[in-house]
Amino acid sequence: MQKIRAFHRQSIEHREEFWRREAQRIHWHEPFTEVLDYSRPPFARWYVGGRTNLCYNAVDRWAQIDPDLPALIWVSTEVDKEAVYSRADLAREVNAVAAMLRGLGVGKGDRVLIYLPMIAEAAFVMLACVRIGAIHSVVFGGFASHNLAQRIDDAQPKLVVSADAGSRSGKAVAYKPLLDQALASCAHPPAKVLLVDRGLVPFDAVAGRDVDYATLRARHDGAQEPVEWLESSEPSYVLYTSGTTGNPKGVQRDTGGYAVALAASMDYVFGGKPGDVYMSTSDIGWVVGHSYIVYGPLLNGQATVMYEGLPTRPDGAILWKLVEKYRINAVFSAPTAIRVLKKLDPGLLKRHDLSSLQALYLAGEPLDDTTANWISEGLGKPIIDNYWQTETGWPILSAQPGVEDVPTKFGSPSFPVYGFDVRVVSETTGEDLGPGQKGVVAVQPPLPPGAMSTIWGDDERFVRTYFTSFPGRMLYSTFDWGLYDQDGYWFILGRTDDVINVAGHRLGTREIEESLNSHPAVAESAVVGVADTLKGQVAVGFAVLKDPAALGDAQRALELENDIKRVIEQRIGAVARPARVRFVGALPKTRSGKVLRRAIVALCEGRDPGDLTTIEDPGALEQIKESIKDNA
Ligand code: ATP
Ligand code: MG
Repeated sequence: MQKIRAFHRQSIEHREEFWRREAQRIHWHEPFTEVLDYSRPPFARWYVGGRTNLCYNAVDRWAQIDPDLPALIWVSTEVDKEAVYSRADLAREVNAVAAMLRGLGVGKGDRVLIYLPMIAEAAFVMLACVRIGAIHSVVFGGFASHNLAQRIDDAQPKLVVSADAGSRSGKAVAYKPLLDQALASCAHPPAKVLLVDRGLVPFDAVAGRDVDYATLRARHDGAQEPVEWLESSEPSYVLYTSGTTGNPKGVQRDTGGYAVALAASMDYVFGGKPGDVYMSTSDIGWVVGHSYIVYGPLLNGQATVMYEGLPTRPDGAILWKLVEKYRINAVFSAPTAIRVLKKLDPGLLKRHDLSSLQALYLAGEPLDDTTANWISEGLGKPIIDNYWQTETGWPILSAQPGVEDVPTKFGSPSFPVYGFDVRVVSETTGEDLGPGQKGVVAVQPPLPPGAMSTIWGDDERFVRTYFTSFPGRMLYSTFDWGLYDQDGYWFILGRTDDVINVAGHRLGTREIEESLNSHPAVAESAVVGVADTLKGQVAVGFAVLKDPAALGDAQRALELENDIKRVIEQRIGAVARPARVRFVGALPKTRSGKVLRRAIVALCEGRDPGDLTTIEDPGALEQIKESIKDNA
């Protein structure tokens, strides 16, 4: 890993030279005068004075070079439709929508809240916003009115763009009533609502407020909307974090730094070239959707596949079928999706021609080595675990095949990515720790281009939330717990909130989950630390079995529980042996697929599980409750 190390070192020690060179990846309408202004730590301004535009770089530039190549491939297994937009088509749609937005009174600096399912219009609107300098804020379509109202009040948009409905598992899910409710309950409703009518669910339009997308679109066909050239640090969008640990934060992103960072990451981290085809299975409501469905691939001249549907419908081979059909070069998904596939026939992974596929990228939650192994063997492809956050916008830790091909270790997101000066530090003092020592994962600021510039409307909260946790040392941290080994491979052990202290031993819940998942009967698991009057804390595991029938009767369940505990004890040691392993049909997760450990702990400790508005399936929490009823 000589090259990766040297590359990383150069990005830190010769920061400005490094990012000056990378800046050539994008078009600058006016050159920048300074690579980095860090005169007001921790606020970093990249490419000061430079003027550019995200939409121009993602759309216009490529449409001029090769207009007929595909840019956006939209596939919906929900409504059984597909559409391929060439670079020229995309430019035409985006220009039309930009004209529509301007016509509705939206201009530079205005916010536009996007509450849409995974339809191509969502990408058009995002790109049209940044074209005219409006700031988009995409809210995940699966959120209900409370979450939506909260975000509307924080962003105070001039316009909301929404649709009649989304679709899940073939059933229409109405959006409009939720939107109407949210608008009725929020303090800052916008004057106008632009609605895409998919014809899925009838609705009543509010006269004077609701505008039909298709009608307006027809009026602006062939529009050529001039680009708003933004100063590099001017905001491109605001996106709220997943809310796993509580109140979501409005992450504000800049323009120039983001464009450069994403274009570079497509090459170095994702091994992509212009003309390649890329697919991320995320949702535009999450950061992965922003960076790696919309902006990253398009900024690098790659086609992006936007998928509305589940990885299991019509069957568990759908992702691989799309790889074959569209000759996809890289797929980006989440461990939670792979764990779903793991419960199905492994033969599904072999059914299609995957010769175009270079690697499968996974992020969002710890990827245990059992799951990584399973999917890697099944597909016969490299698996690249990458670690990052809404805040950083692009990977902090990852293999970087575009820099150097280095073998991965399953269970590890490999190495620090260029630009991020990542450390493992002591939780109490903030001092650097060495190889093999567990501590808090932190980044020595300044954060690189593309990372958040502040919290929307709240600089003070930005500093307090991310930079003030260690006395005497300004470090950026979102409080993940981790270590790196002697070979320089990093491991994320869970969030610091989830660290369990058993008889003085600090264990990441993830370490125990890793062992639990290595049991052949287990599909996925969650381990939490529960207060214990004798030991301070004990580990309690919740396991979902690949085959629920394997549970059998109470006797068989007890045998299985003991068997699992034995595996954990053998792999980590007696300290990690959970007090109980409970069997459930599903784990409570956020809508972005993260296990809600804080809610499980609360239930185990007999407390109220708190804010559950981001939960995917409330039934899963009921199952946890049910499973601990005996309280043994
Ligand atoms: P909130 O900040 O609102 O509580 P969140 O932290 O879940 O929500 P995201 O930005 O979506 O919001 O997620 C980032 C977090 O996800 C990381 O801080 C880390 O805990 C976890 N994570 C992401 N990728 C990985 C990975 N590859 N391995 C382990 N953990 C990961
Ligand atoms: Mg977070």
